[in-house]
Amino acid sequence: MNKIVIAIDGFSGCGKSSTAKEVARQLGYTFIDSGAMYRATALHFLNLNLSPLRPEDVEVGLKSLQISFQLNPETGKQETYLNGVNVEKEIRTMRVSERVSEVATVKAIRAELVAQQQQLGRKKGVVMDGRDIGSVVFPSAELKLFMTADVETRAKRRQLELQEKGESVSLEEIKLNLENRDQVDSTRTESPLIKVADAIEIDTSNLSFSQQVDQILDLVKKATIN
Ligand code: C5P
Repeated sequence: MNKIVIAIDGFSGCGKSSTAKEVARQLGYTFIDSGAMYRATALHFLNLNLSPLRPEDVEVGLKSLQISFQLNPETGKQETYLNGVNVEKEIRTMRVSERVSEVATVKAIRAELVAQQQQLGRKKGVVMDGRDIGSVVFPSAELKLFMTADVETRAKRRQLELQEKGESVSLEEIKLNLENRDQVDSTRTESPLIKVADAIEIDTSNLSFSQQVDQILDLVKKATIN
C-alpha cells in the first residue's frame, strides 16, 4: 500500500491524539502530535517568563527552543522533549493548557512550528493531528479528517485522563478551558481552526475508541485504493 499523509484537525479534547497514535501504530506510520509542540513552546515561555505577545520575547524564546520526539527508555514510548528534557507530563497540566492557545496565536511561533512539522512529514506515512494540519501544514494531504464531540463528553474524557495522571480538576474548570481554547483557536487571525472543504467529519460523541480507530482505518483503505 502506498504511504499517505493523514491530517486530523478538530476541537480540543476530541481524542484526536490518542486516535491518531493508534491509527499510526496499526499502519506502521509516524504519529506527530502538533499540539504537543505548541504546548512545549508555551511551557518554554512560562519557564523563561517570556510573553508571547512581545516580539522581542518571541525572538528570544524561539532562538532557545528545541523540540523533539524521542523514545523514552523508561516507558518505551515516543515522548516530547524540550531542550533535551522530557516534558511529556508537564505539557499536559492545566498550567500549560491555560496558556497554550495564546502562544498559538503568534504568527512567528506558528511559522517556526509549521516549518518543523512539514519537515517531519516530508516522507509521508505520517498521521499528524492539530488545528491547521489540513489547511496549512499539509493542504495536499491525501486524507483529511475533522473530529468533533460535544463539550460535555470531551470534558469528562479529559477529566479522566488528568485523574489518571494524578491531577484532580473539576469538570466545570475543564469545560471552561476547552471552550476558551475552541473560541481562541477558531477566531484567531493566524491559521484559525476550520473544517476545510475536503475534510471528512467524524463525531466521536457516541463512538468508542476502537470504533473511532476502525472508521479512520476504513477511510485510509479507501484513500489508498484511489
Ligand atoms: O492538541 P492540543 O489540545 O494538545 O493543542 C493545544 C493547543 O495548541 C490548542 O488548543 C491550540 O491552541 C494549539 N494548536 C494549534 N495548532 C495546532 C495544534 C495545536 O494552534 N496544529
